[in-house]
Amino acid sequence: MFENYKSPAPDVILELMQQFRADPRPEKIDLGIGVYKTGDGKTPVMQAVKDAERQYIEQEQTKAYLGLAGDADFVDRIRTLVLDDAVSPDCVRGIQTVGGGAAVRLLADMLAANDKCGRIWIPSPTWINHVPISKAAGLEVVTYTYFDPATGQIDFDGMLDDLGKAEANDIVLLHGCCHNPTGADLTLEQWRATAALIAERGLLPFVDIAYQGFGDGLEEDAAGVRLLAGTVPEMVISTSCSKNFGVYRDRVGTAMIIGDPGAGIDKAREVLLSAGRVNYSFPPNHGAATISLLLSDPTLTSAWKSELDEMRQRILGNREALAQTLRSATNSDRFDFVRGHKGMFSLLGLSAEQITQLRNEAAVFMPPDGRMNIAAINEADLDVIGKGIAAVIR
Ligand code: PMP
Repeated sequence: MFENYKSPAPDVILELMQQFRADPRPEKIDLGIGVYKTGDGKTPVMQAVKDAERQYIEQEQTKAYLGLAGDADFVDRIRTLVLDDAVSPDCVRGIQTVGGGAAVRLLADMLAANDKCGRIWIPSPTWINHVPISKAAGLEVVTYTYFDPATGQIDFDGMLDDLGKAEANDIVLLHGCCHNPTGADLTLEQWRATAALIAERGLLPFVDIAYQGFGDGLEEDAAGVRLLAGTVPEMVISTSCSKNFGVYRDRVGTAMIIGDPGAGIDKAREVLLSAGRVNYSFPPNHGAATISLLLSDPTLTSAWKSELDEMRQRILGNREALAQTLRSATNSDRFDFVRGHKGMFSLLGLSAEQITQLRNEAAVFMPPDGRMNIAAINEADLDVIGKGIAAVIR
């Protein structure tokens, strides 16, 4: 009966990986895949994480199953990292998940299981998996205006106009920081206005934060989510440790529910746990246990923070160099906006045809939406990237 299947819609990122691998040109440049890279194109294990892993393995006593909710100490440390004291710990319920992706899925399942829950408003564009996950969970998806490709900036009036049409108990998905794929983040003023609109219309914010520490710093990147958490009565958050601890393949994340302790957050958490139970049963231990140990040790924590800051500084340096290169290659200020974007990505506003031409002519690989992985730029490739882009927009 297997012949009965239709192929699922292709995943553009996985397709791009295959195209890149198959391309025989030695000078090819991969600016597509969403992982941080050092100047020599590597994604190494962070030293603080390696040290924490060593210590953890020494002290590991058992490999019996974790509970469904995972490592409670890990979850609490991530709660502090993301929320600090924006809300009382009594008002937060969290669980460990299989990366940020599963956190998004379990929260979507939990919300879809609530008869009161309305549609989910998702920014356009957004992380490639938000819409499929929401639909698979059974939520009705509506998109809201977010980005203006002509200016490289947020279309904030368009965003507020669209969200002004949302109804009570609709969900609003927001990126906590370092918006994927655009790189355009809300200012704190814009967070404040968004929070006011959400509170006024009785909407439920769903913040997905997958790059804390990659934008302006660990605290700065959480300022929006903290402001929102202090403004609205209820909210959900998905977090990922894939990027800021570099533990992509270990699959480490959390899902959190915020609300009044008397207003059903414990029941909501039970639904979240059962969504995990029928999906993958128990979360994996290693990555979360390592991070829990790291964050409990002041020396390892401070080593991790300085490594993370070095990564962030490298991205900032790449942004500056790219902006300068594109300015001289195109003889215009069209791409100056990459300087002000946050995190690993920038959407350059090139068409799918221009992206194909760039791949064919300059061997520069990016997904069809033109999301550039700024963290993957190598200084030696800047000239090729600049000339390639200048040629395709001519
Ligand atoms: N949310 C966003 C916005 C992301 O960009 C990503 C990963 N690229 C995720 C969630 C999922 O992260 P993870 O790899 O931890 O599942």
